[in-house]
Parts: sequence; structure tokens; C-alpha cells
Amino acid sequence: MAHRVLVVGGGVIGLSCAWRLAANGHAVTVVAPTPGRDGASWVAAGMLAPVTEVQFGEAALTEFLLEGARAWKEFSAALEEASGHDIGYDQSGTLTVALDTSDRAALDQLLAYQHTLGCTAHRRTASECRRLVPALSPMVCGGIEVPGDHHVDNRALLRALVAAGRAAGVTFVPLTVTAISAGESLGGRLHGGPANGGLVAVLSDGSRLDADRILLAAGVGTPHVGGLEGAGLPEIRPVKGHILRLGPAGSDVGGPPLLTRTVRALVHGRSIYLVPRPDRTLVVGATMEERGHDVTVRAGAVHELLCDARAVVPGIDELELLEAQAGLRPATLDNTPVVGWTALDGVAVASGHFRNGMLLAPVTAATVVDLFAATAP
Ligand SMILES: Cc1cc2nc3c(=O)[nH]c(=O)nc-3n(C[C@H](O)[C@H](O)[C@H](O)COP(=O)(O)OP(=O)(O)OC[C@H]3O[C@@H](n4cnc5c(N)ncnc54)[C@H](O)[C@@H]3O)c2cc1C
Repeated sequence: MAHRVLVVGGGVIGLSCAWRLAANGHAVTVVAPTPGRDGASWVAAGMLAPVTEVQFGEAALTEFLLEGARAWKEFSAALEEASGHDIGYDQSGTLTVALDTSDRAALDQLLAYQHTLGCTAHRRTASECRRLVPALSPMVCGGIEVPGDHHVDNRALLRALVAAGRAAGVTFVPLTVTAISAGESLGGRLHGGPANGGLVAVLSDGSRLDADRILLAAGVGTPHVGGLEGAGLPEIRPVKGHILRLGPAGSDVGGPPLLTRTVRALVHGRSIYLVPRPDRTLVVGATMEERGHDVTVRAGAVHELLCDARAVVPGIDELELLEAQAGLRPATLDNTPVVGWTALDGVAVASGHFRNGMLLAPVTAATVVDLFAATAP
């Protein structure tokens, strides 16, 4: 049965769900101030990295991330066909390197844990690492090659999702949702499972939109939508990440790219990554900071990222600093996304994707399509 669906949020999660819902016959409206141009999705690095993202004690999450990665090939092909856009889906793999012996020991422990989880990852010597990535510093003392950790150009992905959404009939309303409620005709909220219609969203210009189903996909803004008391949403908190974009400067513009695969590193215990883009820019990130909703770009964080990145790939010194930004990852207490019905009838949520929203967008959209296809329990 087709529904009038209102999606709150225009990041990778809202846009992926909107496109897939519209492609499955629903009448979809996305309300977001600048769809595909803001939020964590706009600043993200675009790594699709279930193996290099492995954290000790998160075996269940890793299994979910691996499932997310398996969905990417088909999703990417379908999206490129539906939108006519190249999204820079790159399958050249990832190399994680160590800068000192203590980093090397930490990577060896991580590799052993990756193997216990059944992940494909290979120990590489320093010279093997430099053969894979000639731009590496001579200080690099070995690493792990992960051929299955890929990346996508996050901004090309967002542009493609907007285009594919439009082509499938999605309507975009460039406002915010200030509150949602059950429609007046219903005289209040029902409880549990999908409603039979009658939801209303109040928008930032005071207008109202009716819907049968609402999907909350507003990243760290999700808990701040009015009317969600009693929705039973878990805590979703912002985790700040500084990130940089560097590009070839002057006469180097036409030269060969510095990197052709993602390089991650441990630099005296600190994590850093450098992700190449098809236009030969590099994305360098990222910090992990608990600072509430603050997105100020701080000099110290930029300094730290540049120092660590040049310790791994000294050639970045010659690049132009194009952007320094900070974004807010939507994180739950156990780092696992929340995707499903809320306790409010007809209102679902897809948020809390933390460090892996790009990776998990295809499986999240598929889950939401299944959810909205279901009849009331
Ligand atoms: C520095 C950094 C690097 C990252 N790197 C990666 C990576 O390499 N790989 C990966 O998989 N993930 C990465 N992530 C995580 C990823 O970016 C997020 O998990 C993902 O973007 C979350 O998507 P989202 O759509 O839920 O939220 P967002 O992208 O934050 O989008 C939220 C949307 O909701 C809108 N909104 C908010 N409130 C309202 C409202 N009231 N009404 C209407 N709209 C509203 C916003 O304007 C925005 O459009 C990174 C994140 C950061 C910060």
C-alpha cells in the first residue's frame, strides 16, 4: 500500500530512504533546509570501511557494518543509473599503516581481532606498504592491507541522491520541521505500530504538512523535533569531527595524484586518514570530540590533523588547504543506529549512524522500505 511519507532530514540517510521509498511507489516529501548540502553527510570522508572501523568489543556492530558494505555495489549501480551521476565509488581498498613500533604493535593486535571476526585483512611490511603507496613516509614501519574497505565521494553521492529522488517523484521543501503531531481529525495520538494516516508536521514558516507516515532522519537534530515526548527515542548525541580538504596547487594541478587508495594510520597512538577523490583532492580526518552542538573550526584541531597527515604522507605539504570544517556525528550510547518504529503511531526513526552513515545508507534505506511496506501489527 502506498503512503504519503514525510522524511525529516536531507542527509545521506533521509535522502537514501526518500529515494528508495519513492521508487517503491510512496508519495514522498523531504523537509530539510538544504537537502544534500549540510549535516554530517556533507563533511564526511565517505569511507565504506567495516574492517578498518573495527573496534574491540563491537563484534555485533562489525557484522552489521559488513552487511552494509555488501549492499554497496548494487546500491551504487542503481543510484548511478537512476541519477545519471558518477558517485566516485572506488574499490581500490585501504591501507592502514603504523608510524612507530608501538603503533605497529597496536595494529598487530587489531589485525588479530579483525581475523577473529572473520574479516579479510593482510599484514604488510614497511616496504610492501611503500610499494602499494609510494607517497608514504620512510618512517612508516608496516601496516594492514584491507582490500574490501572502499570509499565513495560523499558530495557526489548526495547530489546523486537528490537527483534520483527528484526523478522518482520526491518533493523537496527547504524548511525545517519544528514539531509533529497526530492530525486534528484523529483527536490525539494512537499507540504502537503504524497509524492509518493523520499525521501533521509543523514547518519553520508556520505551514503544516499532512502525512500518513513520518520518518525522522535528522541526524543530531532528530531529538530536537517538537512533539516527540513519548516517542521512546534513545539518546542521540553529537560527536564532533574536524576534517580537512586539500588539493593540488598551481602547476601541480595537472600532475599525478598523490594517493590512489585510502590510507589510514596510527601516528603515535592517534588515528588519521587520507581519502583520495577523483578530482585529485584529499580528505583528511578526523577528530573525535564531545563538545555538544559546537561546530567551530579550532586551530589546534587543524594543526593536529595536518601534523599527523604529513608524518604519514609528507607530500601533502605542497597541497592547497581548500577547506577546514567540523561536523556532528549522530551517536547512540552503544554506537549502533536506531532504525524502526517509534512509540508514536506512524512515526519511524533512522538515525544514530555515528561514524558509518555513508556505509549504512543502503541497508538503512532497505530496512525502512520494508518497514513502511508492512501493515499494522
Ligand atoms: C568528520 C566526519 C567524517 C565522517 N566520515 C565518515 C565516513 O568516512 N564514512 C561513513 O560511513 N560515515 C562517516 N561519517 C559519519 C556520517 O557522516 C554520518 O553517520 C551520516 O552523515 C549521518 O547521516 P544523517 O543523514 O543521519 O545525518 P546528517 O548528515 O547530519 O543530516 C541531517 C539532516 O537533517 C536536517 N535537519 C536537522 N534538523 C532538522 C529539522 N528539524 N527539520 C528538517 N531537517 C532537519 C539537516 O539539515 C540535515 O540535512 C563522518 C562524520 C563526520 C562528522
